[in-house]
Amino acid sequence: MRLRNIPGARYVIAGHEAVIKNEKEQKGHWEEVFGNDHPVRVEIGMGKGRFLMTMALEHPEINYIGIERYSSVLLRALERMDAMEEPPSNIRFVCMDAAEIEEVFEPGEVDRIYLNFSDPWPKARHARRRLTSAAYWERYDHILKQDGVVEFKTDNKELFEFSLEQVQEAGWELKAHTFDLHHNEDLNRGNIMTEYEAKFSAKGNPICKLIAERKR
Ligand code: SAM
Repeated sequence: MRLRNIPGARYVIAGHEAVIKNEKEQKGHWEEVFGNDHPVRVEIGMGKGRFLMTMALEHPEINYIGIERYSSVLLRALERMDAMEEPPSNIRFVCMDAAEIEEVFEPGEVDRIYLNFSDPWPKARHARRRLTSAAYWERYDHILKQDGVVEFKTDNKELFEFSLEQVQEAGWELKAHTFDLHHNEDLNRGNIMTEYEAKFSAKGNPICKLIAERKR
């Protein structure tokens, strides 16, 4: 998702209290940012934030951080939050490229990572950019707590099959997976739909999901 450049997006983001501007300085200090020691869960590529904001409302005992590369997209999430009558207080946003995630979190600081409908980068020469490619599993390994998990959803079967392979190659444990989430009673229990999930499942596309646990 890349919305056209929105003039002033950076200015609005810079002044929003839920956006963390100096994210690299918070490495090792996220408890102070939230003012508690609740588990920290991160969605990478959160888009307009429907999933994360619903999760934050349903789980006030968890802290959520949404990472999004484009300011124009993050702006839409902030607008959604500002329109809520009682916005969740357990959510923060960071505008950054996830390739730098190890500079933002200390080892073990993250409890769980969500990847929802990550960009597929279909050309082989762009495979390294996929958020489920080997280099990313290594990054996740460095910041997740022991037994921390990554949850990944997509409607792109090729990307999903690639991701299943990469999980195994990275030496992670595949805890569960399905090629049809919405017809899998166990995995779909409590499922929160993302914007893309709602859009693609309405078109009849089955949704794939995997849960992988880091093993050290
Ligand atoms: N997760 C949302 C959903 O399921 O509705 C949005 C999915 S959209 C296809 C992917 C989003 O990930 C886009 O907003 C894109 O800008 C963001 N993104 C892709 N690569 C990223 C990266 N390396 N770092 C941060 N955000 C990224």
